[in-house]
Amino acid sequence: MCNAHTPADASLNNDRRAFLRLATVGAGALMLASALPTADIHAAPAPKPANDLNPQQALARLMEGNSRYAEGVTKRHDFMSEREALVSGQNPFAAVLGCADSRIAPEYAFDTGRGDLFAVRVAGNFVTNDGLASLEYAVAVLGTPLIMVLGHDSCGAISAGVKAVKDNAKFPGKIQGLADALKPSVNKVLKAPGDLLENAIAQNVIDTVAQLKRQSSLLGDALAKGTLQIVGGIYKLHSGKVELIG
Ligand SMILES: [Zn+2]
Repeated sequence: MCNAHTPADASLNNDRRAFLRLATVGAGALMLASALPTADIHAAPAPKPANDLNPQQALARLMEGNSRYAEGVTKRHDFMSEREALVSGQNPFAAVLGCADSRIAPEYAFDTGRGDLFAVRVAGNFVTNDGLASLEYAVAVLGTPLIMVLGHDSCGAISAGVKAVKDNAKFPGKIQGLADALKPSVNKVLKAPGDLLENAIAQNVIDTVAQLKRQSSLLGDALAKGTLQIVGGIYKLHSGKVELIG
């Protein structure tokens, strides 16, 4: 039985392994895992063994990828060669909470392939309930060791937050809610020296990192165990470089 896994078997085993990992983070999840059959659980290999990293290794790999990207020496990412492994599951080595801005594509910016980055994107890269749930899934179920909150210069969403604070600007549709969500970070730097938009972009990343650490017991547990690191970065449009902040 053990020698004749189909991709479907492998996927099932990966799902089971993921559920069992989740079982370590809460009683409710433990009940979920205990409801699963245990007779046929095999330790399926990680789809991408090179992604099995600790938080420090993951951050180093992420920044090395960004250096390659900024210098124009990115690797060739051949989906054909990794497609079969990724049918059975995923083990991304980093999650990125980034802006939806079309110029900030995390997979490109860090020179990563499929199955490497778990990307959560929303204009203004701030914490939403669904975004947080997605990051909790990456950490608690997929075992992702690193979250990077990635802001960028000239961010239109943060600019809307600045206008909402300074000019009491009103925006159509749901955009007003997004601008309002960014107001607290803008207010913190309203009287700081330097460029208000740049300061607000950096403050929003710092605040988002703090919120992720504070608002989620799942992420907090992983941080306490040393299996997770949460960092902030700013993507520079001109150079393509990501600068760590916070
Ligand atoms: Zn943006």
